[in-house]
Amino acid sequence: MTTSEPAHSYPARQAPGAETVAELDARVIDCRACPRLVEWREEAARTKRRAYADWDYWGRPVPGFGPADAAVAIVGLAPAAHGGNRTGRMFTGDRAGDFLYAALYDLGLANRPTATHRGDGLELRGVRLTSPVRCAPPANRPTPGERDTCRPWLARELRLLRPTLRTVVVLGAFGWQAVLPVLEAAGWAVPRPRPVFAHGARTTLRATDGGAPLTLFGCYHVSQQNTFTGRLTPAMLREVLGAAAEAAGLAVSGTDPS
Ligand code: SF4
Repeated sequence: MTTSEPAHSYPARQAPGAETVAELDARVIDCRACPRLVEWREEAARTKRRAYADWDYWGRPVPGFGPADAAVAIVGLAPAAHGGNRTGRMFTGDRAGDFLYAALYDLGLANRPTATHRGDGLELRGVRLTSPVRCAPPANRPTPGERDTCRPWLARELRLLRPTLRTVVVLGAFGWQAVLPVLEAAGWAVPRPRPVFAHGARTTLRATDGGAPLTLFGCYHVSQQNTFTGRLTPAMLREVLGAAAEAAGLAVSGTDPS
């Protein structure tokens, strides 16, 4: 399915400003627009991983996490079957999230370094985590069609964040490819040729309505494949996140050089 508005409960023609981020979050969790992903997320929730046998898995689309007036958005790929799909919160309950939240805590952008479950007290300051695909995909690989079907959810979210949003950090090349058209749909001009993903890439997009520009940062994904191999170190992640926060006007803490 490649239409610009998916066939789900998303209010495609709702008047601008008539919806809040909280309402969007409440709507997305009921989406069933991708049959393969619906089946996979629910199958994972039924069968569970042995270590989480006593968990009541979320098994639904995972909404963005963080304040509705965030200045920085961090965009990943999709929830993990036994991470976000289990806990119902972005990057919560898996090693990728542990790596990301530790960096946010080091920078003073999270009030605690770990994320275990909804209701654990974790709060983010000025940062919202989200993804271009909201349901856990098999092998962590959504299809291009699934990416396109989910696109309006992220476009709507970024449009709602626009009054305060100043930087976006994209984790990985898949997210980068997915986010560029979303940013266009949300009101920023993406240059041609399109900026290429790289760790440390940084480009500024002007707003098509004359509003505030947006600075886009590229960062390797916090997947275990990257963090276990040292391709992405804690210092590398802190450097990109810190630069993005500072570009967005957020004060950051001094960082541990280790
Ligand atoms: S991936 Fe997105 S569009 Fe597809 S079912 Fe999940 S929330 Fe809906």
